[in-house]
Amino acid sequence: MRPSGALRGLLDFLLPAGCLTCGSWLPAAEAVSLLCGRCRATLPVASRPRCPRCDMPLGTGRRPAPQCRECAGWPRQPARARQAHLLKAPADTVVHALKYEGWPELAVEMGQAMARGVRGAAPDAVVVPVPTTDRRRRRRGYNQAELLARAVAVELGLPLFDALVRHRGGPTQVALHPLERRANVQGAFAARPDASTVLDGRPVLLVDDVLTTGATAAAASLALERVGATDITLVTYARALPDRG
Ligand SMILES: [Zn+2]
Ligand SMILES: [Zn+2]
Repeated sequence: MRPSGALRGLLDFLLPAGCLTCGSWLPAAEAVSLLCGRCRATLPVASRPRCPRCDMPLGTGRRPAPQCRECAGWPRQPARARQAHLLKAPADTVVHALKYEGWPELAVEMGQAMARGVRGAAPDAVVVPVPTTDRRRRRRGYNQAELLARAVAVELGLPLFDALVRHRGGPTQVALHPLERRANVQGAFAARPDASTVLDGRPVLLVDDVLTTGATAAAASLALERVGATDITLVTYARALPDRG
């Protein structure tokens, strides 16, 4: 964990800035970014062709597959997903630093990368972060998805609305889609009482740091649909690669 407040300001002044992932010295002009130019250029992106719905590479790159296996089991929402990078080095280090090592200022640069993939796609959308449980938020001091959502909203000039709350171990609902049910076990999502006044009839950019199975996004989307959100795009910084043994 990094020091905070005055001590941190002093350390920032005394110690030269280094690249977050390779440690190399950052010239002052580049120090606005926390990654050096070389590391930034190696942030992994998905190969094309990609699935029009979930943005994952179709096939291995050498041999394109006609159908996507990643989003085949998704419910109706999120209607699509877009990610800036694949969850491999050095993007995994960036996510880890934001989430566990107390580097909230990384969210600005990450959010800018995320915004590039959805710019102009939904000009009347509302940006909504995937919430974390209160306990995790207290331990970390912030919700990383909320910081990313704020950065995406600023970058796109769209409104940000913290529409959802998450409770640990919510009640199970048998009518849920299997993916939604799986997420529900980890924590149930509910929309705030005033959410429909903002979201009714509006498209949503749902923001999270990483997309793994889609279970969390499916459960959060369900809560957004209940208050009238129409078309939900999941926007994440990184996409975990499927583990197919
Ligand atoms: Zn570097
Ligand atoms: Zn897909």
